Amino acid sequence: MTIFSKILAGEIPCHRVYEDAHVLAFLDIGPLSEGHLLVIPKEAKAQLHELSDESAAAIGRVLPRLARAVMSATGCTAYNVLQNNGAMAHQAVMHVHFHIIPKIGSAGLGVGWNAGKLDATHAGELVARMKAALA
Ligand code: 5GP
Repeated sequence: MTIFSKILAGEIPCHRVYEDAHVLAFLDIGPLSEGHLLVIPKEAKAQLHELSDESAAAIGRVLPRLARAVMSATGCTAYNVLQNNGAMAHQAVMHVHFHIIPKIGSAGLGVGWNAGKLDATHAGELVARMKAALA
């Protein structure tokens, strides 16, 4: 059981911003900037690829609305939506969560972006493999 399951069960308090049948949103206890919000499915799955279509759709439906609320409450005009999967990818709590992180001056998410260059042949192979996985 993760800390977010305990929050969902009401065993641990949180600063609740939004709730519906499938989704809960609350303030991050360790904000990178003012208004840093966490949006979680009620479905207890560790990583995004495990989520049901129903939970995924419910989160997708409210993310823009919650982003507008964060912008309105903080006055920010820029923000990042971050969703980490796996300890290697900086996931600490193994219950799916989306961060909405206002960028306010230097406060907010710092992003390292070591871009490579897409090779056309390899791109074709990757697309074929992904299409096969989707089929
Ligand atoms: P991750 O690195 O897994 O994507 O981020 C987990 C986030 O959950 C962190 O930003 C951390 O501050 C937040 N967090 C961890 N425990 C609690 C808690 O008990 N309450 C709240 N509100 N946030 C938490």
